[in-house]
Amino acid sequence: MQPTPFCNIACDYCYLAERDAKRFMSEDVVRAAIRNARESGLLARELNVVWHAGEPLVAPAAFYERAFGIMNEEAGATTAVRHSIQTNAMLIDEPWCDLFRRWGVHVGVSVDGPADIHDRHRKTRDGRPTHARVMQGIERLQRAGIDFDAIAVVTDASLERADAIVDFCLAAGIPAIGFNVDEQEGVRTTSSLAGADASVEGFFERVFERAADVPERLRVRELHEALGRVAAGLPVVTVAGHAMPANPQVIPFATTTIDCTGRFSCFSPELIDQRHADYGSFDFGNVLHGRMIDALATDRFAAVFDDILAGNDACRAACPYFSLCGGGSPVNKLNERGSFRAAETRYCRQTIQTPVELAMQALEAGLELQVENH
Ligand code: SF4
Repeated sequence: MQPTPFCNIACDYCYLAERDAKRFMSEDVVRAAIRNARESGLLARELNVVWHAGEPLVAPAAFYERAFGIMNEEAGATTAVRHSIQTNAMLIDEPWCDLFRRWGVHVGVSVDGPADIHDRHRKTRDGRPTHARVMQGIERLQRAGIDFDAIAVVTDASLERADAIVDFCLAAGIPAIGFNVDEQEGVRTTSSLAGADASVEGFFERVFERAADVPERLRVRELHEALGRVAAGLPVVTVAGHAMPANPQVIPFATTTIDCTGRFSCFSPELIDQRHADYGSFDFGNVLHGRMIDALATDRFAAVFDDILAGNDACRAACPYFSLCGGGSPVNKLNERGSFRAAETRYCRQTIQTPVELAMQALEAGLELQVENH
């Protein structure tokens, strides 16, 4: 759910085209989203709702209070709705903590490491640093006992600083962190990690070494996901007659993105914000009008889905990691390679292949694999 495209800061690696637009999701869109998903037969026993894009906390807490209630009402007793919010943490105060606690909201905080790394890219519109206010938000979460983890964007400024980033997490009491590589997508037409595969590998190698020494204090998402992939692989599902390792960015409606006006998309969440000469936009309809599931029968959906499936087939034919990956991220194929039909990208080398290789090396070197924890 993307309650607003607006963001209160202006990170220089941001891929969003409309972060200056002050539009907000209405309660009608919230209600229609869940009702439409239910009437489309898309709700299972659990629905994970991620509030993201722009800065979700620029919408008032009262909006979420009502939205969470509406979603429970519309989902009914057979579907448990769980919420998480991805935030820059600058607006977190006691009332927000109270809302998070009462609704069991999981909070993801965007913080890139210590101030000198973070403030290089994460600035206000007038160029001021944001790290100090982010740390205030983190301390408020900690004082309130709210469960949270961190997401750090890895840029060229991070690559030689793995120790500093791990030390920062340990000192700040951050219990878990995920690393998003600087991606070339949307209005971010370059990445500072182009040509830096070896340095990215060195970065993850050092982070994994450090994390393996303190597993009870710091959980690194990429290491745990890679160990999980190696230990158990991915379940195989059949989609449109294709048997494939389960990948929510390839299965229609496994990941459904809804923007503040009710437009919805499938596959990679970033697609909803983009346009392309071959497809036009990637919205497949609006939750306020017509059943979502009927999008499957439209020409635009078929054009996108056919090419994504062709990209998966290309991965299957060429890539030894396919059974552990399921064909990666369509939006990165489109933005890096110009086509959903492509296979390998820099993004998948740096975020799938490298962590899997490092996890296998760690296992061979004696890292204990506790499958139940992954
Ligand atoms: S790692 Fe890359 S090339 Fe291999 S299956 Fe995944 S997306 Fe395709």
